[in-house]
Amino acid sequence: MLCHNITVKGACGQCVSCRSWQGNEHPDLLRLRLVAGASSIGVQEVRDFIAAIAQTPFTARERIAVIEDLSYLTKAGFNALLKTLEEPSSASVIFLVAEVVETLLPTVRSRLQHCAFTPVSSSLIMKALQESGLDRSRSTELASLSNGLPGLALRWRSQPADLKAYEAAGQQFFDLFEGSLKTRFSFTEDIAKNDDLSLADWHGILSHWQLLLRDLLLLSIGEPGLISHTFLRSRLDEVAKTLQARDWLARYQMLEWLGWALDRNANRRLALNNFFITL
Ligand SMILES: [Zn+2]
Repeated sequence: MLCHNITVKGACGQCVSCRSWQGNEHPDLLRLRLVAGASSIGVQEVRDFIAAIAQTPFTARERIAVIEDLSYLTKAGFNALLKTLEEPSSASVIFLVAEVVETLLPTVRSRLQHCAFTPVSSSLIMKALQESGLDRSRSTELASLSNGLPGLALRWRSQPADLKAYEAAGQQFFDLFEGSLKTRFSFTEDIAKNDDLSLADWHGILSHWQLLLRDLLLLSIGEPGLISHTFLRSRLDEVAKTLQARDWLARYQMLEWLGWALDRNANRRLALNNFFITL
């Protein structure tokens, strides 16, 4: 949309606009996202953003505005946005990104064109990783672990420390599963004390656990070829044997409930402990 020589094949990658986009400094590409350390995006930030959208584009035909995660907008922030969604300026295109569309107010949803992004196939992600110089077996492993999220796979590729942390978190989940209620509750105390954890961080933890429970479910029904955490295979095998498929499914559903409860501002400590009691 910003390219000066756009064709059916997409952006040219050569023009001034494409180059400044690649350098992450395009003056007509505006992003509204959570400031590090903040837990929400407030009304003043939204107002400043709206004022920036309304300005005449510098080099592109339109200003492109991206709100990276709608779920962080405060209620007042949302209301400030509504008028702009009703009467957007003709020289702008606004993208609203949300993980779960159901969390948006119906008044917002009715003003949007819904565009669903499905997970990218692991063979495509694997190809990209191999093209970046990673060997075949490591590419396969990272592609299956990323579960259709190419950005995540590439980040793990470039920042091995992030991958290490992810792997350690996987092991920690098994320790919690095998641990006593006391161990689990003290995990809750530690995590609930951490004020730096945003709702997105919580969801990151939950979706990791969900993938592990999914792997356990898959192993319990005899589908080892579909699991994501191949590097944890021996521990997964061991743990999967301890319960029946329907019990894994029940835990998976309980975890979905936990995510749902957190989105609705439930007390995080209580909600997490409730999950741990049934784990
Ligand atoms: Zn271009």
